[in-house]
This record gives sequence, structure tokens and C-alpha cells, in this order.
Amino acid sequence: MALDSFGRKIHYLRISLTDHCNLRCVYCMPEDMVFRPRAEMMQDEEVLFLARLFAELGFDKIRLTGGEPTVRAHLVDIVRGITTTPGIRSVSLTTNGMLLSKLADPLAAAGLGRVNVSIDTLNPAKFKRMTRGGDMETVWEGILAAEAAGLTPVKLNAVVVRGYNEEDVVDLANLTREHHWQMRFIEMMPFGGSSDLQTKQMVSSQEIQDRIEQSLGSLTPVNGGELDGEARLYRIPGAQGDIGFISTVSAPFCADCSRARLTPEGILRMCLLRDYEIDLLTPLRAGASLEELRKLVLEAVWNKPWGHGLANGEIAINRAMNEIGG
Ligand code: SAM
Ligand code: SF4
Repeated sequence: MALDSFGRKIHYLRISLTDHCNLRCVYCMPEDMVFRPRAEMMQDEEVLFLARLFAELGFDKIRLTGGEPTVRAHLVDIVRGITTTPGIRSVSLTTNGMLLSKLADPLAAAGLGRVNVSIDTLNPAKFKRMTRGGDMETVWEGILAAEAAGLTPVKLNAVVVRGYNEEDVVDLANLTREHHWQMRFIEMMPFGGSSDLQTKQMVSSQEIQDRIEQSLGSLTPVNGGELDGEARLYRIPGAQGDIGFISTVSAPFCADCSRARLTPEGILRMCLLRDYEIDLLTPLRAGASLEELRKLVLEAVWNKPWGHGLANGEIAINRAMNEIGG
């Protein structure tokens, strides 16, 4: 198992398969975002090679993300290649759900375990505004298809942005009454070239929880209030599913972090919100030996930064969210 210099076990790799996306969410990227040429990104066999390398170093959990991973060609083959890699115990996917209704069955057949689907509001007009063009009903069909395909438990992600969807958190929370879903509310984080919106329109987990409790009454903590991954979980009494709060900005969970991220162009990034990175794809393409690549990974893991510095106004500047992989 790979350890960092603080003794944290790093065994969870998020692989961003592409920076391209079929939406342009206001909290993620500018409307005129220019995407990377495909040749600069890891090719399919390079993704699978690096997944094997990480698995040999004790990484057992992989999440595929982006940009939007479902716009990547051969996604189902990539998933099959990763789920059949020795040592990998769990493979999941984060998606905006726009293409999920058709992909859910083949992805499940390829061994995908579960999905997280982003849905920031149930109001179609607000959804379109927030995602700059997305169709809420298409995403909804995708969520139902994922559940029917057994990609469960389905987790739903909503980033809450003041002036866009802070009024909608109660409707989203109410979904958990009838569905075995985990509805997670995410504090908006600032990134490279961060827009005013990311810094000025963030809504805290506390405010979101207060809004929900004012309408629905007190929520009951799940797991004694302990973190479940990155989320603190609650339940509406009698509900089927859970409500999660991901408070990256107001209550960081860095002490429990077990993650590394691989960007679409094969760069290993050890903290979502820090610029420290090590390039793996350039040496791989230049013919580096397995031993040399292993050393690079272990060095990056060892040097994983303790945590982010948002509280001190330190913002990672070199990439937007879609270029890192959420
Ligand atoms: N396209 C997929 C999706 O939207 O689910 C996967 C990639 S997206 C970058 C991964 C997650 O990051 C999504 O849940 C999205 O809502 C979240 N996200 C994007 N920008 C964010 C920001 N500035 N702060 C917090 N979360 C953000
Ligand atoms: Fe695309 Fe996901 Fe970013 Fe929205 S959050 S623009 S769907 S990558």
C-alpha cells in the first residue's frame, strides 16, 4: 500500500478520461471553454497500462470522471479493461447523466459498480441555465436507467450556487423519501482563473442544511455523524435514502484523504486544490521502464500535500475543475 509522508494510505485513484464535456456548468468552466486536442490525452491502452501500474502499487478503488467521461470513445471497453485488472476491487463513474440512459446497461455489463450523477435542480429551466444547455428530464431518465441496471447505490451530486439553485435544495432532499439514493450537496470550490461566481456565490453546507431543516424538520445524523467518504450523512426520519453534505470549503476532510487524481493528459495530481503534479504520460511515451514509473508514482504519493489552503485564500491556479477530474 502506498503511504504519504503523513502516514495516510493512498489507494483511491480518480482517472479523468477527458476534459471535454457536452455541458458547460456555470460552477465548473467558462462558457467559451476550449478543450484539449484528443492526441494530447491518454490513449485507451495508456489508461489501462497506468491503471495496472497503480493497482500493482496497492490502489484498489478507481473512479472514472472528467470532463464528461461518457463522451469518451470506447468508454465501455475502458471500463471492462479496468474492472478486470487484478487488484482493482471497485470501479465507479461520475457523470452528468446526459448519455446515461443508453450507457447504463453496457456499463453495468462491463463490471462498473455504481454511478454518481450530477443534478443541481429539478426545475428544467433552472437546470438549463445552470448547465448552459442541459436537459433535466434526460438526466432523470439516466438516473432511473442506472438504478434499473443495478449501478447502485446511486449517488446524486448538486453544487449549490447562490442566485441559481439555493432555493431548490428542499426538493432535491425530498427525493430521498421515496428513493434509495444518496443526495449530496457540494460546497462550490474555487479553481484556476476562478470566476467571481466561484468565490462570491458559494453556499455553505450549514446554510443548505438550515434551509432543508426549516422546511422538513430536523435531520437525523447517520453513522453517529461520522464522515462517509467525503460526505456527512443525514436522513429525513422514515426516508429511504440519505442526504449528504460535502463541506470541502468550510470543513475540510484532508486528514482522511486517500486519493490521487490522474488528469486526461496523464498527470498525477495529489490534491484537487493544490498545484503539485507529476507527469507520467511523457515518460511513459519516452519509454520509461516500469521501475522508473513506479518510482515517480511513489514519490508523488510521498509528497502529497497535507491539505488545501482555501481558508488562507490560497487557490490552486493551474487548472479548471473539468481539467482535473472531480
Ligand atoms: N461531468 C461529470 C459530472 O458533472 O458529474 C463529472 C466531472 S465533474 C467535474 C465532477 C463533479 O465535480 C460534479 O459533481 C460537479 O458537480 C463537481 N464540480 C464541478 N465544479 C465544481 C466546483 N467548482 N466546486 C465543487 N464541485 C464542482
Ligand atoms: Fe461538464 Fe461535469 Fe463540468 Fe458540468 S460539472 S461542465 S457536466 S464536467
